[in-house]
Amino acid sequence: MSGDLGALYQEVIIDHGRQPRNFGELEGATGTAEGFNPLCGDQLTLYVKLADGRIADIAFQGTGCAISQASASLMTMALKGKNKQEALALFGRIHVMLTEGPNGHAQPEELGKLAVLSGVWEFPVRVKCATLAWHTLRSALEAAGEQVSTE
Ligand code: ZN
Repeated sequence: MSGDLGALYQEVIIDHGRQPRNFGELEGATGTAEGFNPLCGDQLTLYVKLADGRIADIAFQGTGCAISQASASLMTMALKGKNKQEALALFGRIHVMLTEGPNGHAQPEELGKLAVLSGVWEFPVRVKCATLAWHTLRSALEAAGEQVSTE
């Protein structure tokens, strides 16, 4: 990644890293999980509220580097209203983007704002920072105890 797009992506990451959205404890959460990335020291607690099989609300708290915070912030923005399958499918696409970069079949344009993390694949040590929120999400959805929708 280089040039203007890289600079723009960097700006969004810094913005979300400094002022994460959906930050704080979520009242009435039906599932919570904690995640920790020992490589960097990032830690976060994720709260999800499931209703009718969908993520009615989602929030997180935690501390860590800008990438971990921005990734969690952008994730919570992307997931409201999605069901578990959609959320996990999005994680799959993010994972490909972060681990294979432009050599894989990632299509950042499908990922909306989450595409700002597409440059992270060039820094393998940072991939765990960017995926921490998503791994924690999976645990939180499992902890939420609803069946995965089969629609
Ligand atoms: Zn980190």
